[in-house]
Amino acid sequence: MKTDKTDYEFITWDWRFGGDESTKTIAYVSEYDGSEKLNLACTQLDLPAKRKKEVIQEWCAFLPSLKNLKQLCFFSKVNQDLFEAACHIENLDALFIKWSDIENFEKMERLTKLRRLYISNSTHFENLSFIKSIKSIEWLELHELKNLKELDGIEFAENLKGFIVSGGTFGKQKLKDFEPLSSLNDLVYLGLSNTYALSENLSPLGQLKKLKYLDLPLYYPILEYAKIVKHLPNCDHGIQSFRETGFDCKNCGLKTITPMKKGGREFCPKCNQQKFIDLKQAFEEAIRNCP
Ligand SMILES: [Zn+2]
Repeated sequence: MKTDKTDYEFITWDWRFGGDESTKTIAYVSEYDGSEKLNLACTQLDLPAKRKKEVIQEWCAFLPSLKNLKQLCFFSKVNQDLFEAACHIENLDALFIKWSDIENFEKMERLTKLRRLYISNSTHFENLSFIKSIKSIEWLELHELKNLKELDGIEFAENLKGFIVSGGTFGKQKLKDFEPLSSLNDLVYLGLSNTYALSENLSPLGQLKKLKYLDLPLYYPILEYAKIVKHLPNCDHGIQSFRETGFDCKNCGLKTITPMKKGGREFCPKCNQQKFIDLKQAFEEAIRNCP
């Protein structure tokens, strides 16, 4: 991909640019210095059970009082109480949850000023209905959410500029379809690298005319990739008839490729010249014929 991720100003999680040196991760209320950013790891502490509980209760009481806090990053497992306390931080701009056993995400609706949200590794995260109340959201990142089956609700995020959804250790993120994305007219950045739409239809993405960056896996029929090339000429999607594998051919030493289509098998373009020509022709034909 040509574009450097730092070109997208709205991707501002500090660690993306080489780690967050400016904000120390803390465990206790007494360590907080009143700044706009708070990195918290206040659970899973090596303390007696009673004290562990108290530390969490102290944060639950303290978090809602933080009027100046803009960015809250949870780096240890978040429970329901801690999450709900965070949902009372009225001016919160960015919320980062690395891992949770939150059972109910509805309280997120209170964070009406939230612009950036990152949620990973949360088994009970099942839908995006809370987005309805967070029209301000510009950057949404979802990883390792095993029970997320559809994107319905995301269509309400009218100001969304960047969206990443990917699977993780459990494998592909399987979603019903990409239809709810089709109306997000301001979307500039879309990362779907380990995500599979059961509909196998990429047409909704072709409607995103402001898209500058799109990352797609090799899960779809050739015609679907052709649609992207045809409808998004100004997007950095890296789509052509093949994708380089980065591996060397055992026969000639040249880099091998994988056809840009579902079920495509790795081969060497030099050792299989006719196959390579056919592949390129098939892709050009798909572009000519696709709706
Ligand atoms: Zn070869």
